[in-house]
Amino acid sequence: MKLLSAIVPCYNEEENVAFFYEEFIKNKEFFEKKDLTYELIYVDDGSSDRTAHEVKKLRERDEKVHLISFSRNFGKESAMYAGLKRAKGDFVVLLDADLQDPPSLLPEMYGYLEEGYDCAATRRVTRKGEPPIRSLFARGFYKLINHNGRVEIVDGARDFRLMTRQMVDAVLSVTEYNRFSKGIFAWVGFKTKWVEYENVERAHGETKWSFWGLFRYALDGMLSFSSIPLAVTSFMGVLFCIVAFVMLLFVLIRALIFGDPTSGWPSLVCIILLASGVQLLCLGVLGQYLSKTYMEVKHRPIYVVKEEE
Ligand code: UDP
Ligand code: MG
Repeated sequence: MKLLSAIVPCYNEEENVAFFYEEFIKNKEFFEKKDLTYELIYVDDGSSDRTAHEVKKLRERDEKVHLISFSRNFGKESAMYAGLKRAKGDFVVLLDADLQDPPSLLPEMYGYLEEGYDCAATRRVTRKGEPPIRSLFARGFYKLINHNGRVEIVDGARDFRLMTRQMVDAVLSVTEYNRFSKGIFAWVGFKTKWVEYENVERAHGETKWSFWGLFRYALDGMLSFSSIPLAVTSFMGVLFCIVAFVMLLFVLIRALIFGDPTSGWPSLVCIILLASGVQLLCLGVLGQYLSKTYMEVKHRPIYVVKEEE
């Protein structure tokens, strides 16, 4: 018998825990047909509501349900990592608790693994029900991050994916602190089949991502998987040096030929402002990378477990 591990990160999802279980268990016949057994790992990411309690209630009914509780909110990335570490399955699937990742897709996804793919990943083809400004920024983000072209991060890709043990081990071997899973999944490679589906709205409760939360996450992803900003700063530096040099020559020659009437103060102020602005911007970009490096070299654990069942 093969074991399928399902990992469900939960942050204040008390209404969804049992609801998710019911949906997941609807695959029972499929599991039996394929001679699969499952373990369902809920990762309680420092919820302040009764999420952990709900999971324990489920565990009384079904011992295949497990719980990892964090000591505080560490974020979905940490929750997924904790789940992957804990999972013992031959196949591992990551799903959201809010049923935006429909468990009913599992049979189809499993089929692709049987066909020889290492991973069946999902992407949304629509962003229906999402605020337009969020979609706009999301699109822009994928355009930007894919610009360097080394690992492609697919637009609309979700964290919802079914992987083989081999791929999970590869993902776990990436132990960086600033985790951006979509990038890591792409980075480890392997043969991935993309399953497309329409966006589903969350079952209960509200999204845990604020606009700025998502913006910071996007920035993290960008810094983790692209050094383009650094290249752009260097390029700007060179460009400005060349412009300054040409202007210097021009001013010098003009002064030699026509003398030096004291004029041009406003333009000088503009140039100084522009140049120092660009310098500050570049320093900021450098600082961002430095701060990421700083967090990385500290080697802090990615999460802290309070309770595990
Ligand atoms: N989540 C988490 N920790 C967080 C934020 C979210 O574990 O700090 C979980 C959340 O409970 C849900 C999943 O990550 O199961 C996706 O979150 P959400 O539905 O809020 O994001 P969206 O679907 O709007 O992108
Ligand atoms: Mg959601």
